[in-house]
Amino acid sequence: EQGLFSVFQRRAQQAPDAPFLILPDLSIITYADALARSGQMANLFRNSGVQVGDRVAVQVEKSADALITYLAAMRIGAVYLPLNTAYTAAELRFFLSDAAPVLFIHRPEDEAVMADLCRDLNIAARLTLGAAGEGSLPAGANVQPVEAEVYPAALEELAAILYTSGTTGRSKGAMLTHGNLASNSATLADYWRFDEKDVLLHALPIFHTHGLFVATNITITAGSAIILCPKFDVRELVRLLPRASVLMGVPTFYSRLLGEADFTRDLVAHMRLFVSGSAPLSAETHKEFSARTGHAILERYGMTETNMNTSNPYEGERVPGSVGFPLPGVELRITHPETGEELPQGEVGLIEVRGPNVFKGYWQLPEKTAEELRANGFFITGDMGVVDARGYVSIVGRAKDLIICGGFNVYPAEVEALIDAIPGIAESAVIGVPHKDMGEGVVAVVQARDPELDEAKVLAALSGQLARFKQPRRVIFLPELPRNTMGKIQKKALREAYADLLA
Ligand code: ATP
Ligand code: MG
Repeated sequence: EQGLFSVFQRRAQQAPDAPFLILPDLSIITYADALARSGQMANLFRNSGVQVGDRVAVQVEKSADALITYLAAMRIGAVYLPLNTAYTAAELRFFLSDAAPVLFIHRPEDEAVMADLCRDLNIAARLTLGAAGEGSLPAGANVQPVEAEVYPAALEELAAILYTSGTTGRSKGAMLTHGNLASNSATLADYWRFDEKDVLLHALPIFHTHGLFVATNITITAGSAIILCPKFDVRELVRLLPRASVLMGVPTFYSRLLGEADFTRDLVAHMRLFVSGSAPLSAETHKEFSARTGHAILERYGMTETNMNTSNPYEGERVPGSVGFPLPGVELRITHPETGEELPQGEVGLIEVRGPNVFKGYWQLPEKTAEELRANGFFITGDMGVVDARGYVSIVGRAKDLIICGGFNVYPAEVEALIDAIPGIAESAVIGVPHKDMGEGVVAVVQARDPELDEAKVLAALSGQLARFKQPRRVIFLPELPRNTMGKIQKKALREAYADLLA
């Protein structure tokens, strides 16, 4: 097994003219072009003082050069550290002081703020890269030779530090090795039957595990191509789908596509695969998508710390509401949240995983690492789930989102599935808020498609379907549920907003 840069280099040598990136204007960057560009950037980074093991932090808009900074960092044995483009200067101060990069690549328009910040934090080098290809990085790379040494990274060495999405608390830097990335992409490329003829329609951000690792690493592993959209725009997806064979998205991609009248069975008849992840895909969306297109979305489950853990099968039934089977090489077990003991099949508990995909630990957080990564190699994901008799895994919610009402556990996913099935509901989030005598009470926050729907109708539809303690005490209607850039519903924010509702 080799690191991903070596895999990429071999592809570029074997098939130099094969397309690697296809831009929205349909211009092509071949494997050879990208290899050459990575060489120019590698020289520039080395000249900027970056050495093996140094962090290269990046906060730039999505573009071909932006993606190639990832390849260039791997090429010189640096640790790649992409940052969410939505982070403000105040948030960046935390990430940059935590990660202490040698080089920070940012947007040209942030020049004044970032110059100050880097001076404060003693970050030695800065480069800029703009959405339209401007900035000191491209200008500097253009005058560098394309030849550059390739650092022979060992599989145990760090390839990247990726911060978690911060859904449940402050983001943590997950240390990922070359082995973590290479093993997972080899497994996925095989499991999802990728080959060099595939064209992946890519509209995900490239600072997150989904768009950066799952999408890009599989492409490199298979020698296939990416259509690189700068951002998610549903009209662009409809325009470009005829040129693609695979789409990877977060659930909102799919619900938004279903809202387009010209998103039809014919438009996607040629497609090979639709993958969903990063947040739960509702069974309703899954079914509606199948009915419209004839394609069953393949839902998988992963996280920053582990890359991908489970997937619905390529051949065989893709079960709505389930995240499928543990991937080859990944062990998954369900444990008791308090005792840590393994639970029998069919019982709900914490999902733990072990395998070559599991990270080395949290950057500069040894105590947090010790709490979540067991000595025997199992990582406690923080998600709760259950395995059915056929081995399909379902996620019932995050441990932190579990609701305890009068001493009884309520798993939000169970209630959400029933609410989502009510005609006229677009989506729902079920949360627990402080309740005067039950400890916590269940509150449903919903987005309705049907303006006639009201609280009483939702409650009436649920009665008889759920034990009394699981039934929402209140149903709140919002025009839209709050989500972060990865399409994850912000339950923490909802709990704060409705903290006094039942008190
Ligand atoms: P933080 O760890 O900082 O609170 P986060 O867990 O949202 O943020 P990520 O690593 O981006 O950060 O997300 C991983 C989480 O996303 C998983 O632990 C799980 O809760 C959720 N997730 C991913 N895929 C799915 C899926 N298919 N179904 C349900 N949940 C999913
Ligand atoms: Mg997490």
